[in-house]
Amino acid sequence: MRGILLTGALFLQYYVSAAYIELLKEDTLNMVEQLVEFGKDEKDTSVWDELAEMTDLYGNRMTASVQYSRSAEWVMKNVKKYTGMTAWTEDVNVDYWKRNEESVHLYVPTRENQMVNLPMLGLGQSVGTGPEGIEANVIPVSSFDELQTLGNKTIAGNIVLYNADFVSYGENGQYRFNGAFNAEKYGAVGALVQSITGYSLMTPHTGTMNPAGIPAAAITVEDSKLITRMYNRHMKAKQNPDIENAELFVAPRVKLVMNAQNYVNHTQQPNIIIDIKGSEKPDEIVILSGHFDSWDVGVGAMDDGGGAFCSYGALKLISRLPRKPKRTIRVIMWNNEESLSRGADGYFAAHKNELDKHIFAMESDIGNFEPWGIELMSKNATLLNLYTVFGNQYLPTIGGGNVTLVDEPPNVDIDPLCAYGIPCGGFVTLDKYTFKNPSTPAGFEGYFRFHHTEADRMEVLDPHQLRRNAAAMAAWAFMIADQ
Ligand SMILES: [Zn+2]
Repeated sequence: MRGILLTGALFLQYYVSAAYIELLKEDTLNMVEQLVEFGKDEKDTSVWDELAEMTDLYGNRMTASVQYSRSAEWVMKNVKKYTGMTAWTEDVNVDYWKRNEESVHLYVPTRENQMVNLPMLGLGQSVGTGPEGIEANVIPVSSFDELQTLGNKTIAGNIVLYNADFVSYGENGQYRFNGAFNAEKYGAVGALVQSITGYSLMTPHTGTMNPAGIPAAAITVEDSKLITRMYNRHMKAKQNPDIENAELFVAPRVKLVMNAQNYVNHTQQPNIIIDIKGSEKPDEIVILSGHFDSWDVGVGAMDDGGGAFCSYGALKLISRLPRKPKRTIRVIMWNNEESLSRGADGYFAAHKNELDKHIFAMESDIGNFEPWGIELMSKNATLLNLYTVFGNQYLPTIGGGNVTLVDEPPNVDIDPLCAYGIPCGGFVTLDKYTFKNPSTPAGFEGYFRFHHTEADRMEVLDPHQLRRNAAAMAAWAFMIADQ
């Protein structure tokens, strides 16, 4: 029974495959096969090596920082090594959020010096506390519902700690984005957020937040749990002063100091754009992209040096082919993904009149580990079928050939292009440690161990995985541009 069904299914699959793959020319597929071969060349570690050189020299690339400008200049110089590429920069206005000195001290009278210095990172766009800082008790909550239940009576004058355990970036991200704004409504004087990660080695994770009038910072999972336990013991002791050690169970109280400053429209800084012009329809464009800006911690190797340099690496592989694609393949290294998306908005506005000539837009910004495939946003069923068959047939040896359909723009920078109706794809990889499928939250757990931390360094990335990412992205881009 099983055998018969399987044969029938295989036959049907072959029939459908043949029909779709016939939409592609043999010469296109020959080029794709060469790109896949490049992906197997174990000696080629150039994507990793070049990203390491740039990040070792200049460090992280926070929007509006001097390192961003220097790193961009490094890329513009590096491009000159390759033939057949046209590179330029397009400036956008950017704000500068500068962290400056910051700290959180937790009062624990039983410890030496009666306090503990907590590793922390202020959230991007947060207001500062002033140099004096603020001192207040901490009220832990696990959800916005709990915050509302406690209300003004409990919250006013205190600092709220959001201590929800990691479920997914989407689920937990709300506390980082809106935690301060919501806490302020009940009179809180500050907000602390348990870092968004399922695995912590005392690593605070920063990230952007929506505007609020009170300061907000991320603390580690470990310290979030410590504060929560202190609070629970204190509440118990308050209800029952006779319990053992009741006098030691003080309310958690912190001193938060953040000298953060925000400079609106501080300067102009570029998106970096690199083209290999198409041989037949040079005005029609297929985009490969990642964002060039990072947070001001670590070096932004994984987020999103990997995505930007795998896109660039893909273009370098394409430049080695005996011929150019019919349409232009354009690499964009976006500015300002991490906070206000000025890079994405700037490109959309500057290229308003040629959006209809954009055939496809891809971005890689969720880690570059073992290639899995693309999350495709398109209403065109032929595209889905063709891409599925193409991925299955041409990419199994290096990975990156799976296709899943999504309703929402898969990445932030291509969001305006996707929303405009340009078919687009998010390039995704398997979990760094478990190789779990990226269509589930478990597929990103490894990524979120490093995301927006000091630990986002070159060691997160593997040279061979980066090469396979670049080759798979190159194969997709060439196939689409050559149709
Ligand atoms: Zn990113």
